[in-house]
Amino acid sequence: MTPARLEALRQSGITSPADLLYFFPRRYIDRTTVLPIASVHAGQTVTVIGKIISIEEAGFGKKKRLHVSIFDGSSRIEGVWFKGISFFKKRFKTGNVVSFYGTVKKFGSQFSMSHPDVEDIEDGDTASRGVVPIYPSTNFLKNTYVTSLTLQRWVRQLTSNRSFEEYLPQYIRQEYRLPDRTTSLKYIHSPEDLREPDSGIRRFKFEELLLFQLSMQTLREDRISKNPGLNMTQGANYEQFLNDILPFGLTEGQHSALEDILYDISSGKQMNRLIQGDVGSGKTVVAIASLLAAVDSGYQGAMMAPTEILAEQHYHNLNEYLAPLGINVRLLTGNQSASLRRDILTDIEGGNAGIVVGTHALIQDKVRFHRLGLVVIDEQHRFGVLQRSNLLNKGMHPHVLVMSATPIPRSLAMTLYSDLDISLIKGLPSGRKPISTVVRYDKSRADIYHFMREEIKKGGQVYVVFPLVEESEAVDLKDASVGYEHLKDLFPDVEVGLLHGRMKSVEKEAVMKRFSTGKTQILVSTTVIEVGVNVPNASVMIIEHAERFGLSQLHQLRGRIGRGSRKSYCILMTDVKRSKEAKFRLETMARTADGFEIAEADLKLRGPGDFLGTKQSGLPDFRFADIVEDQQLVQQTRELAQKILREDAGLDDDKHAGLKKIFRRYFKAKAQYFSMG
Ligand code: ADP
Ligand code: MG
Repeated sequence: MTPARLEALRQSGITSPADLLYFFPRRYIDRTTVLPIASVHAGQTVTVIGKIISIEEAGFGKKKRLHVSIFDGSSRIEGVWFKGISFFKKRFKTGNVVSFYGTVKKFGSQFSMSHPDVEDIEDGDTASRGVVPIYPSTNFLKNTYVTSLTLQRWVRQLTSNRSFEEYLPQYIRQEYRLPDRTTSLKYIHSPEDLREPDSGIRRFKFEELLLFQLSMQTLREDRISKNPGLNMTQGANYEQFLNDILPFGLTEGQHSALEDILYDISSGKQMNRLIQGDVGSGKTVVAIASLLAAVDSGYQGAMMAPTEILAEQHYHNLNEYLAPLGINVRLLTGNQSASLRRDILTDIEGGNAGIVVGTHALIQDKVRFHRLGLVVIDEQHRFGVLQRSNLLNKGMHPHVLVMSATPIPRSLAMTLYSDLDISLIKGLPSGRKPISTVVRYDKSRADIYHFMREEIKKGGQVYVVFPLVEESEAVDLKDASVGYEHLKDLFPDVEVGLLHGRMKSVEKEAVMKRFSTGKTQILVSTTVIEVGVNVPNASVMIIEHAERFGLSQLHQLRGRIGRGSRKSYCILMTDVKRSKEAKFRLETMARTADGFEIAEADLKLRGPGDFLGTKQSGLPDFRFADIVEDQQLVQQTRELAQKILREDAGLDDDKHAGLKKIFRRYFKAKAQYFSMG
C-alpha cells in the first residue's frame, strides 16, 4: 500500500486491521430495489447501477463539464459534473461498474443527473450479494483516497471464513436477542438484507453501553467501599423546620425524595444522589431539610450554587428559615473583601459555621471545613462533573446531593450521572396555576404594555428578559439598557430595575432585593435570572428575541414565574421572520409546561453536547451508541450491569469469562478495547 493511502486511512482513524473491522458502512444500497435505467423518468430521485461506457469532457472555460455515461443493459444515463472535473476524470474508468444516486433530468431523449452520489460497485456478474455496503470515503489527501469498494474488498478479506471470539455470555445474547460477534460483523459488512445491519449494530451498541455501565458501577462500588458513609439521622432542627417553621407541608414528591436521602445518609454508605425535579417543584426545601439532618448529627453542611445571585438568595432564605434555630449560616463568594473572607474561613475551619452557602468559591483550596458532612450542589449541569470530584478530592468524603437545574432526559441522566442514584420529585406544590404562554410580535407591543400596567395595578410584578450571547455581550447589554430606558419612560409612575452580569455583586444584590421585596415592579434583566431565582409575586415574564434562546433556557426562564398563587403569563416576543427550528421551539413552549418533555425535545434538537452546554460535560464518547437514539439500550444495560455485579461482582463466574476479559481491556483503555481477537 502506498504511504499516501496509509496516511489517508490514518486520518480516518484506521491504523490497524481491527480499526477496519469496526469501520462500519454509512449506508447500504439494496441492488434488488435498484431501478433499470430504462424505467426511470424525469424528476425521480433514484439509484441506478451500470457499467461506464464513456467519459467525456465538453465545453470550455467556465462552461467546462464532464459527462460520464453508464449502461445497464436496459438503457443509458449520464452523470454530469461542473466542478471537480479533473478529480472525477481520474476517479472513473471505462468498464467499471458504479452506482449513481440523484434526481433524474431529461434533455431531449437523454437522461442525466447532475453531480450524482457515486459509489463503485462490484461487477454484477461477480457480485454475490444483493446488498452493497457503502463505506464512508476515507480522507482525500494528496490525490489519494480509499474508495468504498476497496474498503469493502479489504473487509471481506478480513472477515471471510473467519470467526471472532465471543465476549458476551450466551444467556445475555439470548435474553436480549443479540447476534454473536462473528454474525454481527457479517451482518454489518456483508448483509443479505437490509435488516441484518441494524441487528449487527445493535449488538455492538449494547456491548459498548454494557461495558460503560459496568465500569461506572464498578467505580461507584469502589468509591462506596473506600468511603464509609458518615452516619446521620434527623434530629430536633430537622423536625422543627418541617413542623414549625415551614409555612406549608411537603408535597408527596418532596417527601419521597427526602425519604431516599434519609435512608442514604444513615445507611453507612456514602450518598451520591441526584434530585431531579421540574422547575418550581421545590428542591430547595428538600436541600435545607437534608442540611439540617447533617447539622443535627454534628456535621457541617454546604450548599453550592452556580451564580452569586443564587447563592445570595439561598443564603437569605436559609437565614430567614433557620434564625429561630440559632444555626450559624455563612455565605462565601468570590467577591468578598479580604477581611470578611478571613472571618468566614475561620468560622468554617473552626466549625462555628453550621451551614455554608456559596458559589464555586467553596471548593477552592483555601477552604477547609471542620467537619463537612453533606454537600448540596444546586442547579448542577452548570458545574462540570469535574468540580464535583474536585471537592471530593480534597480528602473529604461528605455525602453528596446534586440538584438538577433542568430536567434531564432519563437516558442522559443515566449516562452522565451513571454513578449517582436518582430521585424524582414528581409534581408541583398544589395551588399553582398553570402559566399561560403566548408568542407575540412587535405589532402587539401597545397591548402588551397595557397588559403589564393592568397586572402591576393588581399588585403583580414583571420580568423583561433580554438575551445575552457571549460573542456580542456589548451589543446585548445595550439591548437591555435601551429596553430599560424605554420602559422607564413608558412607566414613569412605576419603579423599573436593571440587572445584568457585568454589575458588581453588591449592586446586583441591591437590585434583586428591591425586586424581591416588591419595591421594584418591573425588572429588566439579561439571563442572569435564568436559574433558580425565586420571587413568587412575579407573575408576568416578557422574553425579548425569544427565538434566540434554547428550549431548556426558555423553560428555566419561564420557571421564574408561576411560583406563587398568582396566575402567571409568559410572553415570547419574536420576529415574524425566524427559522423553522426557532418556530418549533416557541410552539413547544406555548404548548407544554412539562420540563421533561421540553428537555427531550431540546436534546433531540441540539444533541447531548450542546444540550448540556459545556465541553467538559463529562459525557462519554461512544463509538457506536447514541444516547439520544438508544435510550432503551441505555436503560437495559444499566439494569443488566447492576444485576451482573450484584450476582458476580468480580465477574469470576465461568459464564462471565469473556465479559471479564473485554471489560478489563475496556477499563484500561476505553478507546482500544476493540480488537481483532
Ligand atoms: P426549584 O425546584 O425550582 O428549585 P424552589 O425550591 O425554588 O423550586 O421552590 C419554588 C417555590 O415553591 C418556593 O417559593 C418555595 O417556597 C415553594 N414551595 C416549595 N415547596 C412547597 C410546598 N410543598 N408547598 C408550597 N410551596 C412550596
Ligand atoms: Mg432551585
